[in-house]
Amino acid sequence: MLNKVNTYDSAWTELNAALRNTEAAVGLGGAVGALEENQRQTGFIKDQLSGVERFVFQHPDHPSCYFRVQFNAKRLARFNGAGVSAPPEGVIAAHDGCFLCRDNVIWQQQGAELGYELNVNGKAFHAWMNPFPLLPSHVVVASSVHETQEWAFAPEGGQDIKRVVSDLVALAARMPNFLGFYNGVNAGASIPGHLHYQFFERPPACPIGGTAFPLEAKLRNLTSDGDIPAIETEYPVPVAKWSGDPQTISEGAGRWIDHWAALNEQRILRLTANIIVAAQDGGDVDLYFVPRDRTRPRGETMSGLVGGLEVLGEVVMSTPEERQALDGGEIDFFTVEQILASVRTPLFAELEPRP
Ligand SMILES: [Zn+2]
Repeated sequence: MLNKVNTYDSAWTELNAALRNTEAAVGLGGAVGALEENQRQTGFIKDQLSGVERFVFQHPDHPSCYFRVQFNAKRLARFNGAGVSAPPEGVIAAHDGCFLCRDNVIWQQQGAELGYELNVNGKAFHAWMNPFPLLPSHVVVASSVHETQEWAFAPEGGQDIKRVVSDLVALAARMPNFLGFYNGVNAGASIPGHLHYQFFERPPACPIGGTAFPLEAKLRNLTSDGDIPAIETEYPVPVAKWSGDPQTISEGAGRWIDHWAALNEQRILRLTANIIVAAQDGGDVDLYFVPRDRTRPRGETMSGLVGGLEVLGEVVMSTPEERQALDGGEIDFFTVEQILASVRTPLFAELEPRP
């Protein structure tokens, strides 16, 4: 095992030196692309997105409103367990075999999975490629230490929202052609024990909506004013949106969400969130905040969890039953709208009706 660890460490060091050069030359997005290429070659990335089909459903009366469905049969394969589940003799699995802890990755993936070390706002992270990507260059940026994904508003505490927001914004600013998100616990987070953000390269343009995701298209003309977000209430879930230079957005959104949590004190322990970021041409960043109800992690009539991608307006389907529904014309704009609406919780608790 010691030999294997030494071999892994030297492969890691060599790859990281090369990726640091790539980042210096072409930015973090380029380094992620190079890591992705490396991970295809080692065989760690199992799916090349070749089987993914996208369906676009427009509103019959307002064709500029649309949702997308991604059918991705290989998505099911991830449950078949990638990697080795028990550590070799003499090695103890850290944190119940957490897939985002580097000490486990070494034996779980038998050396095939390598990551890229990066510093975000003074904290150390590892970028790991997703072995079953939902989108191009789908990367998980995970804390280099095993620390909770939970936010500080949870009963047991967790990450300061200002940290989560500033990490997301800093990463988005470094990866201009990427989108990213934080899925709160019970809001699509697949590994609640270990802090991580997901980023992916903006996919090629669709004939409808171009390169914009449905949420981005719907909120395109809304702008925030300092700390105060633009608030969209006609999307199936309520959304607060900030746009502007990274530092202003990062500080303003962090302050506002803290204040929002205080105003929602009576129900805050029930709440979680999806937070989405994307840099725009010219360096400005858009940040979207969607509150979620912990008791409803899954959309109605849908096999998977609702996370950041679904909130962006692209629902992932992967089962034979869902395929049949798509082929049979049973799915339309309103089906997807209903899936999202079924996880809706208001931004502020609705007032009790007056007696
Ligand atoms: Zn971990």
